[in-house]
Amino acid sequence: MTDPASPIPLVDVRALHESIRSELDAAISQVIDGGGFVGGKTVAAFESDFAAYCGTGGCVGVGNGTDALYIALLALDVGPGDEVITASHTFIATAEAIAKTGGRPVLVDVQDDTMVMDPDALSDAVTPRTKAIVPVHLYGQPCDMDAVMAVAGQHGLVVVEDGAQAHGATWGDQKVGSFGHLGCFSFFPGKNLGALGDAGAVVGDDPALLQKVRMLANHGRKEKYLHEMIGTNSRLDSLQAAVLRVKLPHLDAWNVARRHAAQRYLELLAGLDGVRLPACDPKAQHVYHLFAIRVSARDALLAGLKEDGISAGVHYPVPVHAQPAFADLGYADADLPVTAEAAATVLSLPMHPMLSDGDVERVAAAIKVRL
Ligand SMILES: *Cc1c(COP(=O)(O)O)cnc(C)c1O
Repeated sequence: MTDPASPIPLVDVRALHESIRSELDAAISQVIDGGGFVGGKTVAAFESDFAAYCGTGGCVGVGNGTDALYIALLALDVGPGDEVITASHTFIATAEAIAKTGGRPVLVDVQDDTMVMDPDALSDAVTPRTKAIVPVHLYGQPCDMDAVMAVAGQHGLVVVEDGAQAHGATWGDQKVGSFGHLGCFSFFPGKNLGALGDAGAVVGDDPALLQKVRMLANHGRKEKYLHEMIGTNSRLDSLQAAVLRVKLPHLDAWNVARRHAAQRYLELLAGLDGVRLPACDPKAQHVYHLFAIRVSARDALLAGLKEDGISAGVHYPVPVHAQPAFADLGYADADLPVTAEAAATVLSLPMHPMLSDGDVERVAAAIKVRL
C-alpha cells in the first residue's frame, strides 16, 4: 500500500535497482576483479545476449543512443546532400544525429492516435535526394513498420530505427530494431533497459555493416594501430555491459509491469472529459516507456499534480522543427498540425515497472479532481 502523502516520481530507478541489488553488486565486483574495462568479454557477452533478444544477427555496443544513431547513419553512407526523413515529434537526439552526418533532417508529422510517424506523411516527403528513414518508436509505441519498410523498398532507401524508448516492443511477431538495416538503442538509466550511466547499441543482420559500425565506434580500426577510416571513440564499457547483462533477463517482466500500469490508467481515465488516452495499433505491442495522455489544460494540470506530490513530465514541449538549433533548416513555420497539438497538450504520467496499483489509482484520482 502506498502512503497517500508520499511523492510519486515520474520514474523510479532506485526501486528497480533495489529489487536486483545483490546481482548488480556481484556483476560490478566481477568487472573490478577482472581488470578489463572497455570492450572485452563482458561487452561481447552482452552484445550477443542483446542481439538474441532483438532477433538480429549481431549487436555493437556504443557509448550512448545518440552515437548509435549517428554511427549507424554514417555506416550506411548518409552524408552531406542526403535527406533523412524522421518525425518532428521526438527527442532532439534523433534529428541531431542526422544533422551531424551533414545530412538534412526532413521532419514529418505523426499520426493523431499513435503519436508515431505518419506513413502517408513519410511517403509524401520522399524526394530524389532522400537517402534514409529514421522511424522513432516513441513512448514505446512501434511505428507501422510494414508501411515504413514498404516506402523504403519502393524508393531504395535505408532504414535506421530509433528504438531508444522501445526495448522489447514488437510489431507483428518481430521486435523493433530488427526491421531496418540497423536498429539503435539507448541505455540511458531511465530507459526501459538502462545502464548506470550512458550506454547504447546498434543491432542488425549484415555482418559487414556491423563491422563498419564497430570500426567507426573505435577510431576506424580493425587492428590496434591500423586505422582504415576516420572514426570516433564511442565504445560500451565493461561495467555498463555487466549491469545491462544482469538487467536484460528482467526486461520482459518489467515491460509486462509497465503494460499492467498502463492498462489500469486506461481503465481509470476512460471517458474522462478533456483527456485523450494513448492508442496502440492492434499489430503493435507497446512497452510504455512513457504513458503520455493529452490534455488541453496541460500546464495547469502539471502544476496541480506537482502540488499533490505527483511528478508528471512533458515529452516534448518544443518539437524539433521549432528548435532554435534547427532554425537554419527553415522549418519554423512547417505545417505539422498533430505535432503542434501534441507539443501543447502531451503529459507523461508516472510510469515505471515498480509503479503500484495504489500509485496509479492515486494519480488517476488526482487528475479527476484537478480537471
Ligand atoms: C534517449 C533517446 C535518444 C538518445 O539516447 P542517449 O543515450 O540519451 O544519447 C535518442 N532517441 C530517443 C527517441 C530517445 O528517447
